[in-house]
Amino acid sequence: MPNDFLLRNVTIAGRSRDVFDIAIRDGIIRDIAPHITSDAPGEDAAGRLVVPGFVDSHIHLDKSCILDRCTIEQGTLQEAIAQVAAAKRGFSEGDVYARAARTLEKAILHGTTAMRTHVEVDARIGLTSFHAIQRLKNDYAWAIDLELCVFPQEGLINDPGTEEVLVKACEAGADLIGGCPYADSDRSGHINRIFDIAQRFDLDIDFHLDFDLDPSWTDMEEVCRQAGARRYGGRVTIGHVTKLSAMPPKEFAAWGRRLADAGVAVTVLPSTDLFLTGRDCDHNIPRGVTHAHRLSEHGVTCSLATNNVLNPFTPLGDCSLIRIANLYANVAQIGDTASLCSCLDMVTSGPAKLMNIAHYGVEIGHPADLVVLDCADQAAAVAEIVQPLFALKRGRRSFTRAAPILHRPQTIARPRLLRST
Ligand SMILES: [Zn+2]
Repeated sequence: MPNDFLLRNVTIAGRSRDVFDIAIRDGIIRDIAPHITSDAPGEDAAGRLVVPGFVDSHIHLDKSCILDRCTIEQGTLQEAIAQVAAAKRGFSEGDVYARAARTLEKAILHGTTAMRTHVEVDARIGLTSFHAIQRLKNDYAWAIDLELCVFPQEGLINDPGTEEVLVKACEAGADLIGGCPYADSDRSGHINRIFDIAQRFDLDIDFHLDFDLDPSWTDMEEVCRQAGARRYGGRVTIGHVTKLSAMPPKEFAAWGRRLADAGVAVTVLPSTDLFLTGRDCDHNIPRGVTHAHRLSEHGVTCSLATNNVLNPFTPLGDCSLIRIANLYANVAQIGDTASLCSCLDMVTSGPAKLMNIAHYGVEIGHPADLVVLDCADQAAAVAEIVQPLFALKRGRRSFTRAAPILHRPQTIARPRLLRST
């Protein structure tokens, strides 16, 4: 059978430094070898690095790009929730779709080929945002696999009518369900209700959890307990968990082991965590970013993700996961090659495992979801925020970025000639 596409002379992350050819047919990687003979059209990567498509395990497309309708005075989590709650009253399906599409396209152009987006549902917005993002999922399936995690950002137990909408979203095809216990006075009750609905619809769970810097209490115990009791290990993620960054090493290690044993994964969101936490300090401000690479040493599945873009939770961002990995490396004081490589893992294989994506990675028989980066090794990709040059989604090219060209001036006159006159 002839191949559809031949990607020539690539360095493959995690393999030897030799260059390989990758043959693709019907969207699947059919062969990986040093020299493949094929008449298929293709591209010579000239030794550049190929990685599996980036995976953003936590982003909010529905509330991105709303800075023009919000104010940021305190920069706190409470202010962000209140500002977005007010803006949300003006959301229509067309408005959500247009803003979300703008954000999604940026992510695609940065090499993201799979994404979990959280979608707010409650008694006021109903399923408006959910329907917009469902349409988006279908319209952009050629470039990215999008999964929708519906969740009650403004509370569940304290917000009458929201649970019914959450259930309706699950009936209407939500891919998974999220929770936000810090938004309710009965946090354990919130966690319990989310597990109940998840079990009823057989959905995975992704909580926003422990989003503060007070180490004196945590909701991790209740999440781990429920995951164990309901045999949900490997199906639960907790995002932020900034509280862990405020714990001394012994306590941090104990929670790392507990999370690993319970099969609860962690997504760290450096941009939002840096922006919103520590606002009660006026100097010597804590970083408030949990050390994902240290958690992973205890066996926790970890990812680094975008979270919010251009809204009161995070007024910054370009949807580049390479840049997020670099930001994290700066904050976590990472400089050695192995740890930089693990930062790259936490925007590729880590979130793929967290999202239970089957057949992920540059292997024969896997879907050809590939990104070619303008560098030769993984550590450089993170250290230098290297740009992706093009991506394939199931073997089809989804975008191309031209490599930059330096336009040196032509020599006006050579010094030797000047001396000879
Ligand atoms: Zn979030």
